[in-house]
Amino acid sequence: MPLSTTVRRQVTQPRKIVLLSASIGLFFFLLFVVIMLTVTSNRRSAAHDRLASYTQRYVANVFGDLNTTLQPLQSATEQSCELIRNDLTQRSAFASNVRAILLVKDHSAFCSSATGPMQLDISKISPFTDVRNTKDIRLISGTPMVRGQPAIVLWLKNPTHPDSGIFTTLNINLTPYLLLASREQQISGMAMVAGDSAITTWNTQVINSSLLPKQPLRSITIPGYPLTLNMYGETLPRRDITVILLAGLLMGVMITCGCFLMFTLRLRPGKEILLGIKRGEFHVEYQPVIEAHNGKPCGFEALLRWTHPIEGSIPPDSFISYAEGQNLIAPLTRHLFTLVAQDAQQLCKVVPAGARLGINLSPNHLVDPSFRQDVLDWLEMMPAGHFEYIFEITERAMVSDHNADAIFDWIRNQNIRIAIDDFGTGHSALIYLEKFQFDYLKIDRGFVQSIGMETVNSPVLDTVLTLAKKLHLNTVAEGVETAEQALWLINRGVSHLQGYLFSRPLAVPQLINFYLEQFPAGSACTPGNNMSVKSGKNL
Ligand code: C2E
Ligand code: CA
Ligand code: CA
Repeated sequence: MPLSTTVRRQVTQPRKIVLLSASIGLFFFLLFVVIMLTVTSNRRSAAHDRLASYTQRYVANVFGDLNTTLQPLQSATEQSCELIRNDLTQRSAFASNVRAILLVKDHSAFCSSATGPMQLDISKISPFTDVRNTKDIRLISGTPMVRGQPAIVLWLKNPTHPDSGIFTTLNINLTPYLLLASREQQISGMAMVAGDSAITTWNTQVINSSLLPKQPLRSITIPGYPLTLNMYGETLPRRDITVILLAGLLMGVMITCGCFLMFTLRLRPGKEILLGIKRGEFHVEYQPVIEAHNGKPCGFEALLRWTHPIEGSIPPDSFISYAEGQNLIAPLTRHLFTLVAQDAQQLCKVVPAGARLGINLSPNHLVDPSFRQDVLDWLEMMPAGHFEYIFEITERAMVSDHNADAIFDWIRNQNIRIAIDDFGTGHSALIYLEKFQFDYLKIDRGFVQSIGMETVNSPVLDTVLTLAKKLHLNTVAEGVETAEQALWLINRGVSHLQGYLFSRPLAVPQLINFYLEQFPAGSACTPGNNMSVKSGKNL
């Protein structure tokens, strides 16, 4: 699709740019949010696993130490309370969080570290403790001495006397576990569960475990003890989700704005051509022009080529008229001059001196204030005295500018010849032949292609050639594709031929080969005055 169409279509639909930019922004927003939620959730989950493992080790250590303290007392269940009482009190004092240690014989507590000798069925203190278990843990709402304050009841059965053992009441203190958990802000609470009872960080009383929230974050069991610790909270707390959403939104908005700016700037009319010049997307191809009397090349016409990175090769017919419409023909022709001057440094080594070099000029550039200086700069860059220059100008230049003869005079004063290009396609063409002085007349390929066919063009072409002969004008027939056309034109006195029959437009290396085949001896160049001018400098 021609660039002008692409550009115009895009520019006339800014809503499309907005939509496209917003879609890209939305895509990155979603991508960011999904990635960040997954990463955060995985990190939190790993932290929870670590915390659960620490907590389990901590609690297992507490109970392990307690076991070490209490087990030596098992033999004392066979002794009298008076004998063992002091030892019992001492051990109770040095074990942390112990409220009382009770020695049990035949289901009955007979000695307390706190009160000494006693006689109380242990079902009265902890109705659910099962003395058949080797170890049993229950939660109770209070002890006879400290009522109203929940406690843990630990039962250690005497391995040698089944109905005897050690019954210990412990203060419930979840603080150490909470301290561990406080490192993870998203842990909102913990619960200790034994049998059907539970004590939590959010309630001071023992509650039924069925009242606990469903699905804790982690459930920690303590090996060897019928006790579970539950951690509650969220893997992905709302605060994290909010932060991720806000960051994603900010990024999405920034990307949307960035895309919008980039698209509008990139597609701004004309920007493409200037960018193309800067990025070196243009090059020149040269189509040989053949002398009719000997069939040898006598020069070539420079034809600009644009290889756009997205659109591919864009035909000059569309980008030249587009550049004219955008007022960019002057910078584009300046770039053409620079490219031609660079190519000429190589070409002059194989192309014989005096070769004709045709340059197409747009009427808009002729009237540009920079035109004359542009031409002088170009002449300075070219190898001195090697080429004969021809400016190809269409009839359009003569119609649109009343000052055309002054410009033509100036051109000829620079020793540059003028060809009237695409002759016959405009209006009143014959009038201009009389009015202005030209060196060459280029017959449009539309006429050439009608040769051999009985169309209205044939008599017109006859008339034009007769007139050109009378005016002593050189004639160049464009678009010669068949030998029949060439023969017909030569018979009618056409002096030069150009077309696919002889050669297509060629890039510099191919043109060099073309010339080497024709003139193997090569040539010599005289350098120009100013070849330091780099591509794009004259923008
Ligand atoms: P033009 O000045 O008439 O250039 C001749 C065009 O005819 C070229 O097309 C050439 O490739 C093509 N041609 C040559 N021999 C044959 C043939 O045997 N058969 C057919 N079918 N075509 C042939 P191209 O290169 O596509 O250029 C198209 C037009 O774009 C040119 O027409 C010229 O008006 C313009 N143009 C090209 N380069 C420049 C430039 O550097 N500056 C300006 N202002 N215009 C340029
Ligand atoms: Ca031309
Ligand atoms: Ca032409």
